[in-house]
Amino acid sequence: MVTISQSPDLESVNCPVCGPEPYTVWMKDGKPTRYVRCRLCGTIYASPRASWASRYAWLDQTFSFGENALENANARQSALAREATLIQHHISGGRMLDIGCDLGDMFHWFPDPGWTRHGVEISPSAAKYAAQTHSAQVYSGTIREAGFPDTLFDLVTMLDMLYYVDDPSMTIKEVARILKPGGICAVEISGQSYQLMRSRGLLCWLIEQRWTRLHTDSSYLFWFTPTSLQRLLEDSGLRIIEEHVIDSPTSSVPWRDQLAGSYSALIRRTSRLSRYWLTWTPKYMLLAERVEKI
Ligand SMILES: [Zn+2]
Repeated sequence: MVTISQSPDLESVNCPVCGPEPYTVWMKDGKPTRYVRCRLCGTIYASPRASWASRYAWLDQTFSFGENALENANARQSALAREATLIQHHISGGRMLDIGCDLGDMFHWFPDPGWTRHGVEISPSAAKYAAQTHSAQVYSGTIREAGFPDTLFDLVTMLDMLYYVDDPSMTIKEVARILKPGGICAVEISGQSYQLMRSRGLLCWLIEQRWTRLHTDSSYLFWFTPTSLQRLLEDSGLRIIEEHVIDSPTSSVPWRDQLAGSYSALIRRTSRLSRYWLTWTPKYMLLAERVEKI
């Protein structure tokens, strides 16, 4: 993805999958920023988008160590446990890296002996907590800044974070570079159709009593379709081997958890018939293998 213009306040970018292809405007909200949809692959992305400084301030505040971060991590425990189990059907030990590791909760499922744990985390306070709590080496910054050697890792995970990175294409290429041939990459994201239905319109109003929770100048930069995410991985030498529907974070409202569980079970069945249905799931995880030569 190439940044085609930049100012102190705004960045204009191309589709992260296709490059400078035509797009349609998907959402405007009265600001200089907007969301557009690539007409070739269907990826929705922010362009022009808020500056790095503005986005970083939000990311640092949102993912810093504190009460909210602990609550969010707690709500994700069952999803992380399932993801770790699915990953370990393919790989039972080695050197793992969790990009966007938050407070390091994924490390809990990759213990000594057998696993060496590394993380990358944008928030310095979260990175410090993750390193101390889980005996992990955690770099505070971006994956590009971390500068790991080639083919260092057996496993790289990117869970619920690909919406925030500056350049997903560069990030995935970097992951392929630092993975061993045959190494495993796990990517968890929200289904595009589900996330957009949930974030704007009637469903958003019913749950949150507001018509939209999206802001075009926010840190949410990308929503991939199952097919555009597959292309992003394959273009970097990562071959998809499995796809799994993942449960939503748990809440303190039992009926909401039951409804979410039933919905996930339904989508889990339909996605076995066609991977198209992954776009309607709150979260899904792709497992990909690095090909021998990229
Ligand atoms: Zn595209």
